Amino acid sequence: MMGTTTRRSDFLVLGSGIAGLTFALKVADKGTVTIVTKKENYESNTNYAQGGMACVLSDDDSFDLHVKDTLRCGVGLSKREAVELLAREGPRLVRELLDLGVKFSRDEGAPCGLALGMEGGHSRRRIVHSNDLTGREIEKVLLAAALRHPAITLIEHCIGVELTIEESHASNGNGKARVCWGARVLNTQTRRFTSIAANHTLLATGGCGKVYLYTSNPDIATGDGLAMAYRAGAAVANLEFVQFHPTCLFHPEAKSFLISEAVRGEGAVVTTNDGKPFLEKYHQLGSLAPRDIVARAIDGEMKLRGDQHVLLDMRPIGKERIPERFPHIYAKLISLGLDPATEPIPVVPAAHYMCGGVVTDLFGRTTVGRLYACGEVACTGVHGANRLASNSLPEALVFAERAAQSALSRSSAIPPEVPPSDAGVTKKFSEIVAVKHDWQALRKLMWDYVGIVRSDERLHVASRRVAVMRETIEDYYTKTGLNADLIELRNIGLVAELIVSCAMTRKESRGLHYNLDHPRRNDGEWKKDTVMSRDEGFSCVPSYVSWGS
Ligand SMILES: Cc1cc2nc3c(=O)[nH]c(=O)nc-3n(C[C@H](O)[C@H](O)[C@H](O)COP(=O)(O)OP(=O)(O)OC[C@H]3O[C@@H](n4cnc5c(N)ncnc54)[C@H](O)[C@@H]3O)c2cc1C
Repeated sequence: MMGTTTRRSDFLVLGSGIAGLTFALKVADKGTVTIVTKKENYESNTNYAQGGMACVLSDDDSFDLHVKDTLRCGVGLSKREAVELLAREGPRLVRELLDLGVKFSRDEGAPCGLALGMEGGHSRRRIVHSNDLTGREIEKVLLAAALRHPAITLIEHCIGVELTIEESHASNGNGKARVCWGARVLNTQTRRFTSIAANHTLLATGGCGKVYLYTSNPDIATGDGLAMAYRAGAAVANLEFVQFHPTCLFHPEAKSFLISEAVRGEGAVVTTNDGKPFLEKYHQLGSLAPRDIVARAIDGEMKLRGDQHVLLDMRPIGKERIPERFPHIYAKLISLGLDPATEPIPVVPAAHYMCGGVVTDLFGRTTVGRLYACGEVACTGVHGANRLASNSLPEALVFAERAAQSALSRSSAIPPEVPPSDAGVTKKFSEIVAVKHDWQALRKLMWDYVGIVRSDERLHVASRRVAVMRETIEDYYTKTGLNADLIELRNIGLVAELIVSCAMTRKESRGLHYNLDHPRRNDGEWKKDTVMSRDEGFSCVPSYVSWGS
């Protein structure tokens, strides 16, 4: 392992998905930007998004309706100011993407010229999409723009390890004040550590689906930003609200392949393995019910019948329309020997989206000075207890722009000298088998005990076991050299612990958090956010309290 070098940049961005790239492009005319990303530059949740972006563009739609649908889905915990920003700013930013060259599917008959899809929980057709490869198209265009910009340097295969934090006593005498001056990163190819000093640092590291055994997320989604922010003293919130996507393909050769919600929007029906629709038993909207209800219903039905999967019948969409509207999904299914035009396909739920995250105000500012967060790693207040389908890409766009505005309005300063940490620099990595084992064990534990349906007993068991595993992982971390697997394992371990803590605190069922021992929603006591920070421990903040403006 090589020693530590240093680098300077006005802005440091961790992550090259929609949030990181949007922020980078918005600040790049005013200063130097370094983006570090831990695998290939396109590898991100963004790149896999299929359905699209919820956006008010049609005459029969309105901002109020989009706000209303989002608030209904968030079950009392979404923050109205954040949701209104999402609804109002989204259309302008979608047009900016069009101007940048994103090719959304068109409908020349529609006044806005774009084809608008329908998805579960939306009361109008408002999903702007690029067939069923929306994320790939957006990622491609944003990346090309970032790579063209002379002020942006993008470093691949470079994993953020820790944020660089300056600590002092808070001016009001209470606790500590913290300022972030960049991050320490590890280039996984050269095995060289670099301290990147920056005036403004953005966490845009995406989600944490890999905390669970089954997930729709690609391998990068290990909650690194969430874990780094918590270790740095930032507040995190609402981590009990993990969204499970109801329909991931159940097939040994299809790791994490998602069948978009838009498929049900276009008429596909979920059935038991003997072909009987059952979702009407759980919700009057049947197959168009919000995805938490659909995921729980599928989980319940599978457990009741002892089945490994249910079926998704796409035949009602029509033989011609399936390949036309969902060419990517269709091609993938055909490549696996499944023809959705003639037979139902096997599907299961899988961890998909983290609604909670690093607490930010309406300008992406975290509780640590000069540290911003946006995209899936952030908790802006939009999603509350449940995310409405296709709201996350536009949320990332809207809040990345606002974070950029905020960073640009702040004065620059010279980052103080931070002595380079030597953790992991000189030692050799030597715990490959143990790390592999713990990866699997931790993710299975979370799947079995902290999954779609929880109970007090399961959460207690998970809490004890995660604590023991975390102790072992911290031990490897201090004794052996670092590599990406160990850095990620340490992060998923911490994120697992934080999810369990939030889930144990909330003594009710709401949105995505369902506990058999507290099966009802309790607005009297629990219309609150579960907020945690390293210094201040747990607090439950009434949900009407805005994160700030
Ligand atoms: C299969 C799938 C389908 C989806 N469909 C939709 C949809 O139709 N509509 C919708 O609105 N949302 C959808 N989502 C959710 C949406 O894609 C994500 O929430 C959104 O793309 C997150 O963007 P982001 O920029 O925050 O993170 P990401 O796009 O995940 O980018 C994170 C970036 O951070 C990098 N990174 C992570 N950790 C580190 C580290 N330690 N150091 C350096 N770099 C790091 C990653 O390599 C990556 O470049 C879908 C998600 C999935 C998985």
